[in-house]
Order: sequence, then C-alpha cells, then structure tokens
Amino acid sequence: MKRLLAAASLLALAACSAEEAPADDDPMAVHRSLLVLDTHIDTPINFERAAWDFGDRHTLENDIVQLDLPRMADGNLDGGFFDIYTAQGPLTAKGYADALAFARHRSDVIDRVIADHADVISPARTADDAERLAREGKLIAFKSMENAYPLGEDLSLLEEFYERGIRLAGPVHSVTNQFADSSGDDGKWGGLSPLGREWVKEMNRLGMVIDASHSSDGAFDDMLELSATPLLLSHSSPRAAFDHPRNLDDGRIRKLAAKGGAICMSTIYLSPMNMTRARATLFDQYEHISDLSPAQQAELVRKWRELNKTEQLWSTTFEQYMTALLRVIEVAGVDHVCFGADWDGGGGFAGMEDITALPVVTQRLLSAGYSHDDIDKMTGGNVLRILRAAEAARER
Ligand SMILES: [Zn+2]
Repeated sequence: MKRLLAAASLLALAACSAEEAPADDDPMAVHRSLLVLDTHIDTPINFERAAWDFGDRHTLENDIVQLDLPRMADGNLDGGFFDIYTAQGPLTAKGYADALAFARHRSDVIDRVIADHADVISPARTADDAERLAREGKLIAFKSMENAYPLGEDLSLLEEFYERGIRLAGPVHSVTNQFADSSGDDGKWGGLSPLGREWVKEMNRLGMVIDASHSSDGAFDDMLELSATPLLLSHSSPRAAFDHPRNLDDGRIRKLAAKGGAICMSTIYLSPMNMTRARATLFDQYEHISDLSPAQQAELVRKWRELNKTEQLWSTTFEQYMTALLRVIEVAGVDHVCFGADWDGGGGFAGMEDITALPVVTQRLLSAGYSHDDIDKMTGGNVLRILRAAEAARER
C-alpha cells in the first residue's frame, strides 16, 4: 500500500488486494503492492549534515546518499532498520565510554530526524507496528545496532537500547571485539567470547533479533547454537557467489534456514572490494560527513563522482547480483531470504546505484517464476516473522 496514493485509490486497492494480487505481468504494480523492507540502512551517517535534509530529493549527480524519503517512494521501499553504526575503537574503559556516548547520540539523532518527518515516516518497534504503518500509508522506521562495542562489558546497557527502540543488533563489526570474532579480523575467541555468550542470552530475554552479519563463521555457529530465536543476517552475500569471509557459505545458509532464520541479500562482496587509497580517503571523510561544511560536503561528493569515473568500489554487474540472489533463494528457500543492500554504508554498484533499482529486482523475480506471495515474504514478510519470534521469546 503506497502513501502516495490518494485515499480513495488506497481504499480501492485495499479492497481488491484481499481478493486478487496485481497481475504478475505488471511488475511495477506487483512491486507497489509488496511490503518492502531493507534490514540495514546506513543513511543515518548523513542525518546531521549541515544544510541537508532527509526529506529532500537528492540525486546521484549532486549528492552521495542512496536513500531519502522521496526516493523511498520512487523505489517503493516501505522502510527498514535505520542503523546505529559504531566504529570499533580500543577495548578500554575510555573506548567504551566514548562509543556509548556516540551510540546514544546517534540513536537520538535518528529519533529526531524521523520525528521531523512524522507526516510520512514513523517509528516501529514491533512487527504489528510495521503492518499498521503500511496500512496507514506511512513509511516504517525500525532501529538497529551494528557493533555491540558501545555496551562495553555492561550487558545491562542492552536494555537501555531496547527501550530506545532497537530491535536488531549484531555483536561485532569488522574488528574482533569483546563479544565476538569478526569475519574481517583475526580470531581471538574461536567464535563468541564468554561475554558474547551472555549477550546472546540477554538479546533473547529482551526480544531483540540477533544480527550475524560481520561475525566470523565461528561466532555465527555459536550464535546459531545458543540463540533461542532465529538469526538474521542483515546485510550479507553468499560465499558461493564470491569467496570472502564476510559472506556465508551454503552449508551455513541451510543451517540458518533450518532454524528459521534468514539471510538478507546484500550488494557488497559480490566482487573484490576495490578499496584504493583514494577511495579509502574519501570513505574516511564520508564516515564523518556530518562534521563537514556544506562546501566541504560538495567537494567530497565531487571527488567521489570523479573517482567513480575511473574506478568503482565494486565491479559487480546487475546480472551477477541477480545470479547470486536467485542462487541464495534456491539454497535457503523463499521463507529464508530478505534484503539488506547496505545503502549508504558501501552498498550499491553501477547498475544498482540507489533504491530506485528495487522494482527491477521484483521484475526479475517474477520472470524467474516466483509468485507475488513468494516475493512478499522475501521483501518483508520473513523479517516480520523473525521479529515476531523474538517478541514471543520476550513474552515467555
Ligand atoms: Zn556492515
């Protein structure tokens, strides 16, 4: 159900959708009828930029972001998990305190920006919230936490983040920390640390979904074994498509599915990451883009676009992406796939540069023979099912 439809046509669509889904030969109509969520949205990195507004339409020519409210309407992205990403720092009292202050602030900023656009988007804390907002024609803002580093060694802080509305969290980012080995670093724990094992229990107790993206294989195995509720991989690709530790192998995808979890297909690591020095310098500036003046932001955007002309971060093509996606669906099954492209966190590639590409993915899934209901599970239903499983564990 789309917010841009007039109330009358919304009612008409609601009336007919109970009876008949849109004809499969009209991909855009099918796409617009789906509940479409993305499980890892890094756009909040941009939320404090001077002279920048999430409600404005930005383009690939004049800005760096891949997702804003007008383009969510274009791509029929109903919402998703707005992420509190905290860079890994030292495992010291000072490091933890700084990270905690950062994460609290980022959480507040997300709340403020969503509240500033309350006419089109609202916070969601439960699967029911998401479905209600979709019915009301509103966009859906869940919150998530990438890297549990800000908790330090104090697991009681997790409840604070639950109260702040976070419903999805991963223990680690690309550097091994106090909770878990990272897929991007040397192992220290052989999976989860003793504290990481306690973190899993606390996540289950609170009713938060565990996000295993970025975790090492060993940490994934530990979480799969220990968690009382299904895992989600908020932005991961299959290792069969590109052999990289950040990706998940078929055996683990099957085990994840067997326990009710889902892998949210990413657009990253489907080809080697071309992180040249020039790109790394720009990425570092991007992570702190909110500290830049409008003129400095414009200069960063100009350099980013200029660099894209000579080298891309990813050499992935849309066909490679679709091949990988169709294979993940085959391995996991339609009940265990979702979408988390890593928009504004390093995701996207030439041919799929922002969220306006999403209808084409639906079109290709229809051509591959997947039904409206299959696709609806993958774009949103599976995520809500996993959220409900976590909610039920909290009630128990
Ligand atoms: Zn990430």
